Amino acid sequence: MARYGMAIDTTKCVGCMDCVVACKTENNVPEGLNRDWIQTIVNGEFPNLTMEIRSERCNHCTNAPCVNCCPTGASHYDGGGIVLVHHDLCTGCKACIASCPYDARFINPEGYADKCTFCVHRVEEGKDPACISVCPTYCMTFGDLDDPNSEISKLVKSRNNHTVLPEAGTSPNIYYLIGGNNA
Ligand code: SF4
Ligand code: SF4
Repeated sequence: MARYGMAIDTTKCVGCMDCVVACKTENNVPEGLNRDWIQTIVNGEFPNLTMEIRSERCNHCTNAPCVNCCPTGASHYDGGGIVLVHHDLCTGCKACIASCPYDARFINPEGYADKCTFCVHRVEEGKDPACISVCPTYCMTFGDLDDPNSEISKLVKSRNNHTVLPEAGTSPNIYYLIGGNNA
């Protein structure tokens, strides 16, 4: 069984938001709502400042509180560990929204909890998620983290990286690559 994830190179991302637009178009995301977004973090103290630009979305956590707390089984792990929502089982109770440390979910106007699906409909056809396919700097890599020979596994192994809020204990599957190589 695969464990799908993303490696996103923060040294290449320019914050152009093409990924955000591609997601909205591909997934018909309602106006005013987003499944992915750009986060800009400034590190250090003046004049020694660095800026990290990150394309963020659901982390498809391996230990996902949104799945654990869902009272109806609507939130679930699909193939490859992709976290999805059965729209017809979702009552819109918002427990999952409250449980997600990444603020990755919202209620779709049609009444169900909504978020990034890793474009599972594309992945099943052997394609990359839409956000990755349009990135002009090729800063995102999608693949199987459990396959040691996959490009994503090699990147995570060879490059310095971090996840977001690892202290939340959710085991996120999106890795942000930062400058330098692992020793
Ligand atoms: Fe659930 Fe949030 Fe983790 Fe996505 S990022 S799997 S919505 S806890
Ligand atoms: Fe489950 Fe839907 Fe409630 Fe979220 S809003 S916890 S998916 S029933």
